[in-house]
Amino acid sequence: MATESQNIYLTKKQKLKCQKCYAPILLGAAFVGETEKSKGTCFTCSDFVDYPLLPPGNAALTRRSKKHSALCGVLLAWNQRRKRFERKGQYVEAIAIEKAKLECAADQKTRDLKNEKAAVVRVKQDAVYIENFALAIREFYPSCPVKREFDIAKHACEKYSGRVGRTANAKKFDKHMIDLAVEAHIRHLETNYDSQFGKGKRKKEIRSDIKFDVSRTMMKWRQKKILSLFD
Ligand SMILES: [Zn+2]
Repeated sequence: MATESQNIYLTKKQKLKCQKCYAPILLGAAFVGETEKSKGTCFTCSDFVDYPLLPPGNAALTRRSKKHSALCGVLLAWNQRRKRFERKGQYVEAIAIEKAKLECAADQKTRDLKNEKAAVVRVKQDAVYIENFALAIREFYPSCPVKREFDIAKHACEKYSGRVGRTANAKKFDKHMIDLAVEAHIRHLETNYDSQFGKGKRKKEIRSDIKFDVSRTMMKWRQKKILSLFD
């Protein structure tokens, strides 16, 4: 049977009350309820009062300890910057954590191997992605200097990480994304942009100074190569 899951909010509200003991639940204290808007209790009045908190970070341990526990209280804290609640661990039975730890220890090697294989696959996928990105750059900027499309693609891929689930399909690359990557590359490698800092100029000013040079180079790279019969 699936373990019943319950949200526990480190509340961002000021005026919550426990439905059992009627004590006020202060800002940042644990509120056990479906949402912050629904009725709920303080932590002491909840079923989780004797449960230990398992911190996040070990996916297998999290999953398995939940499976072995009668109840699972998911601790959520408000992230003001991201404007959302985020997991801070889970309250599960102590015995469930012990069982899960044993299971994890038993198949640690198998899981390590699986993770290693997955990492290798990711590296390969990244290589395919970079290759396709480079091809797309070459398509839009046919006069870009030889092999430079790979430098641009590599750099752009490092910069914009979080590439989970992206498809390695060159046709899916957005023209705007390619333009931005090429523009950044030209700015740093084809102009004196980087050497202008620290001379009392603002970034905006420096960017505006080199704007024309960047546009000109972009235009040059965009031009189709004219095939010569005498090459
Ligand atoms: Zn209470």
